[in-house]
This record gives sequence, C-alpha cells and structure tokens, in this order.
Amino acid sequence: MNSAVRAFGAVGGTPRFIEKGKGCRVWDADGNSYIDYVGSWGPLIVGHANPSVLRALRSAISRGTSFGAPTEAEVELADAICSAVPSVEQVRMVSSGTEATMCALRLARAATGRDRVLKFDGCYHGHVDPLLVAAGSGVATLGVPGSVGVPSAFTDLTVQAPYNDLAAVDSAFARWGREIACVLVEPVAGNMGCILPVPGFLEGLRALCDRHGALLVFDEVMTGFRVAYGGAQQLFGVRPDLTCLGKVVGGGLPAAAFGGRRDLMQQIAPAGPVFQAGTLSGNPLAMAAGRATLELLRRPGVYPTLAARGNALVDGLADIAREQGIEFTTAAIGGMFGFYFHPGPVTGFEEAKKSRSDRFRAFFHAMLEQGVYLAPSPYEAGFVSTAHRPADIEATLSAARVAFRRAARVRTGTSR
Ligand SMILES: *Cc1c(COP(=O)(O)O)cnc(C)c1O
Repeated sequence: MNSAVRAFGAVGGTPRFIEKGKGCRVWDADGNSYIDYVGSWGPLIVGHANPSVLRALRSAISRGTSFGAPTEAEVELADAICSAVPSVEQVRMVSSGTEATMCALRLARAATGRDRVLKFDGCYHGHVDPLLVAAGSGVATLGVPGSVGVPSAFTDLTVQAPYNDLAAVDSAFARWGREIACVLVEPVAGNMGCILPVPGFLEGLRALCDRHGALLVFDEVMTGFRVAYGGAQQLFGVRPDLTCLGKVVGGGLPAAAFGGRRDLMQQIAPAGPVFQAGTLSGNPLAMAAGRATLELLRRPGVYPTLAARGNALVDGLADIAREQGIEFTTAAIGGMFGFYFHPGPVTGFEEAKKSRSDRFRAFFHAMLEQGVYLAPSPYEAGFVSTAHRPADIEATLSAARVAFRRAARVRTGTSR
C-alpha cells in the first residue's frame, strides 16, 4: 500500500487491485468492472486511458523519458497554465502537490520575511510537516491529530482557523498579524468532502491579507482545471498571490506546479535567492500528458457538461435519500462533488466530522458490490470525468437505491 488513503482503513474490507481502466470504468484483478468516481483521486478528468493523452505519451516516450534539461514541452505546459489561471504570471513545475505547497510556503516566507502560516481545519495541503495539522481526509479519517514524526517545533508556526470563518482569521491576524507570511486555503475544500466557500469568504481573506501584508495562497491542487478551466479563482473572481496546482495538470502522471505574481516567482533560484530544484521536475512524459489533458479541457462545453453530470448525480442521490428518510446533504461544483450522511449544512470540518461514518461504510460497500467505485472514506471528494455519460449516472443512482436501504438499516454505531 503506497498511500494511506487507499487502504480502506475507514470502511474496512480489502482494497481492490486495479488492472486497467478505460473511460469512466476500472477493472479489478478479479475481472469485476466499476464505474469509477475516484479518477486516480482527481487527475483523470478526461477519463482512463484517454486516446489523446495516450497518443501524446507514445510520441513523447519514443524520444526518451527524462533529460534533466529544459524541454519545449515544459514551456508549452507553463504557457497553457499562465493563460488559463488568472493570477499566474509565472510557474514552476514540480512532481507532486505536496512539493508544490511546500515550495509555495517557502517562497511566501522568503518574500514576506515572516514565518507563520495560517491554514484551515480540514484542509489538506499534502504531507508537508508544518501543514500536517488538522489536515482533512487521510489524517482525519485515521483519527490522528497530524502525525507522529513531526516535531512540535515544526508546527509551532502553523496557525489554525475553522474553514469559512472570517472572524477567526481576523482574530488570528489581530494576534499574529506581523508574523503571518501567508494564508493557505483550498478555495473549495475537497479533503473533508466537498465544501464551497460561503459568499464573501475568499474575498474577505484577500482583504485581510492585503491589510496585514500577508500573501494569499490558493491550494488549487484539486480545484485547478477541475471546477473551471481557470480554477476556483476564475469562478469566484478572487486573485491569490500564489497558486498551487497538481492532479489534473499532470494528466495522470506525476506533475504539479506552483506559480503566481512574477515579482514573487522571480525570487526563486536561479533568478532569486529561494532554493528549489527537482530531478524529475518538468518530466517530458508528465508534461505531454498534462498538455494533452488541458487541450481537451479547452473545448467549449466541457465544464458545463461536467457540472451537469455532477449535479445529476448528487441531486439524484439527495432525492433517493429523501424518499427513504435518510439525513443526507450534498455539494457539487464543476467536476467534483461530495456528500454527507448528515442533515447539513456542512460549512466546515466540525460538521463534516458529524457525518454518519457507519452509514457511509454500509453505503460504500453496497455500491462497490454493485459496481460503483467511490473513494473509501467519508471525507473525500468524488470526481466525474468527461467520460461519464448520463447512462453511467443512471446506473449509479439505481445502485444507490439499494445502497441507501442498506445504510438506513444501520441504526447504531458511532457518529465518527
Ligand atoms: C491531493 C492534494 C494535495 C497533495 O498532492 P499530492 O500530489 O498527493 O502530493 C495538496 N493539496 C490538495 C488540495 C490536494 O487535494
């Protein structure tokens, strides 16, 4: 098991070993097929084994796998990112979302000469030591506050606030205003289910950062090219100083990026004094897959279609839950969605944690048995791809009718 969240720890049972994927489906080693709403945890927005992505990869791989020197492909992907994401003027490629947030934090600290970072309960920014505090899905699911192996000295500079709570951010600034280098936030939270920013939250963060001389950093590793082509910042019209990207931008290969204002990015070596490097950064295969994916996403109608599929799914689920008298609430935006066995509204980690995980477990396994592959945790967002057709959503909802009945039978059990 190479990543904690895959281990079915929150739901029990045996993780499926996947042999292949095509479109919106995956096949396990026992020959069962599933409609997949995990999508490799976000990257596969154009579906598994997409022909255009495979073609780009074949062409790239025939020329070699890695050079550790500049290539045209990384410049092309950088150009595509800068044209797409409103606040990004310059960008640096890295190999994982974790690396992107780690680098953005280092840059924010360097640029401001301040050490503290403010993050939100239930937001996950990769397993970066100082950010592994109340870090959502994997961590919350495992019920571990942060992780052992992280010295408390490494998290002493991390300030926490509840998501969607501007007053809490205001008081954090009142207390540590001159020490906070940046506010780091998932502009749509996707690691405690799916939680939208309440109106004014992102704008309020922008204003508070400006007032106190801190940088605003959007972690769009999940939301970038997922909720809209230009990410959540395009959708909500708020410009961060720095942006972290990953998942979709690598097209299913290991690539991620961080970027933002040119004057900030110019502080990274070799142009500036902030050290940053990576053996496989800008890997030509990953660049090819990312580029091919973005090319497909630029076509008109992609995001409205993704949103229509996501909404059809969660609205359908909510209807069935209501018919069966089950407390349930949902959210969806662009190609991501979430649901809770909780009456809602869910605006932060406190409510998300009250979701009935015993019901989720029953629901999850009933769906899996019927050929629907959901993330094995009540705190994960789900993903639709351009390969999900209305018939796939219908089939999912038919399975859900059975799964909700199974979940409703769970009467006892803890709420966690
Ligand atoms: C997945 C994720 C990360 C971490 O990315 P990895 O590539 O898994 O290291 C960081 N931030 C957010 C918001 C994510 O969803």
